[in-house]
Amino acid sequence: MTDKYAQLVHHGVGRNVAKKLGLPQPAALRRYQPGQPLITGPLLVQGNTAEADNLAAELLSWDLDVRRHAVPREKLGAIILALDEVAGPGDLEKPILTAAASLRDLAPGGRVVTVSRPASEADSPSAAAARQGIDGFLRSLAKELRGGATGNGIVLREGVPATSASSLAALRFFLSGRSAFVDGQFITVSSTSGEPARDVDQPLAGKIAVVTGAARGIGAAIARTLHRDGATLILVDVPAAGDQLAAVANEVRGTALQLDISRDDAGQRIIGHAAQRHGRLDIMVHNAGITRDKLLANMDHSKWSSVISINITAQLRINEALLASERFRESPRIVSVASTSGIAGNRGQTNYAASKAGVMGMVRASAPLLAAHGGSINAVAPGFIETEMTARIPLAVREIGRRLNSLQQGGTPTDVAETIAFLASDAAAGINGEVLRVCGQNMVGA
Ligand code: NAD
Repeated sequence: MTDKYAQLVHHGVGRNVAKKLGLPQPAALRRYQPGQPLITGPLLVQGNTAEADNLAAELLSWDLDVRRHAVPREKLGAIILALDEVAGPGDLEKPILTAAASLRDLAPGGRVVTVSRPASEADSPSAAAARQGIDGFLRSLAKELRGGATGNGIVLREGVPATSASSLAALRFFLSGRSAFVDGQFITVSSTSGEPARDVDQPLAGKIAVVTGAARGIGAAIARTLHRDGATLILVDVPAAGDQLAAVANEVRGTALQLDISRDDAGQRIIGHAAQRHGRLDIMVHNAGITRDKLLANMDHSKWSSVISINITAQLRINEALLASERFRESPRIVSVASTSGIAGNRGQTNYAASKAGVMGMVRASAPLLAAHGGSINAVAPGFIETEMTARIPLAVREIGRRLNSLQQGGTPTDVAETIAFLASDAAAGINGEVLRVCGQNMVGA
């Protein structure tokens, strides 16, 4: 599960050979450690909008070194580009080219974050063109950044200020090492719901969280990350993975629930376990998933139906039980694990991609149901993540999968877990019905 190539091209002969041949030299990503500074240098807030002023004032109160104008040759930790008032394509040039002049000063592991409004049918064609233009601009810029730097955007629905709890939570996420493998993506903040975290290092303190498929891989990493962020955990996996599940539960001081999530009564079993031990349940993370790859011409009933049943039908049934339960009522949060295969499609994965695209459809349609209780439901779509699942892919295919993204490497299970922890936090309550890719800006798909 280690990326030996990435280690090789940074030392001695390997480095020289890679340079000569123009081979990818993936940078070591800046990943989050509790207590570390949010960014690695001063932060430039670019743009002459009222929201830019408001953001700069807010960021000063975070004890960051904030600039409203670039200082020549000063290394920058991040550039925030306020584009929220563009009314036509001509308005993009000045703020973007002014920011461009500072790009060479962006430190390794630096961040560029745009702040904008969504293009909608209610806009004038000119305003919609400018707003949509930001999409293409940012995704292209993210592909140009080097040294583990990333570019992402925050899209604020009309009426949501840049200083709302969830806008600031999204900004904090993008600036921090928590978003190391999120690149070229947008988060839409749709409402002003959300409470700023009392303790930014323990944003899930006091929360009761369930994670399915927690015995290994991404699920075990989600358990460790939610535990680090203060949550109390209930870990679910099939009885056959009981020993591994118990080991993870011990490590995070949670409880284990051996359960096949595709059983009809899975929702009731989860609610019963949570109610008995904690009286309630706050966060549900649907991570368990399987692949049964075959070209469609060779697909059979068992391969198709097992994938659909575990990857999507189980989640639908469990959510229905949770939404009907009084135990899941106080700003309930659901986060589901989808996949970039569900966005771009993947040869041999018609069943898997149908199930993962299904997760995204479910999340969008469930958003109003959760909002009715002050809650949210979102999905993360991982790209190539270094796990046992991807370690089994034949070497040549694996190398292509790994390198075909802007960061030229696979992500770690913790990268996915960090994004889930962020979406599960109360500060992110204004983000609802979204799908956030954790894929290093994979070249495949949007
Ligand atoms: P994994 O196979 O290592 O772990 C999945 C876990 O889910 C296992 O512990 C398994 O026992 C459990 N599980 C399977 N069926 C279950 C059931 N019916 N009831 C309860 N538990 C069950 O997989 P992973 O790589 O850690 O993937 C986790 C999630 O991330 C999956 O939904 C997967 O589709 C998704 N994903 C993974 C990648 C990747 O690159 N690894 C990429 C995109 C999406």
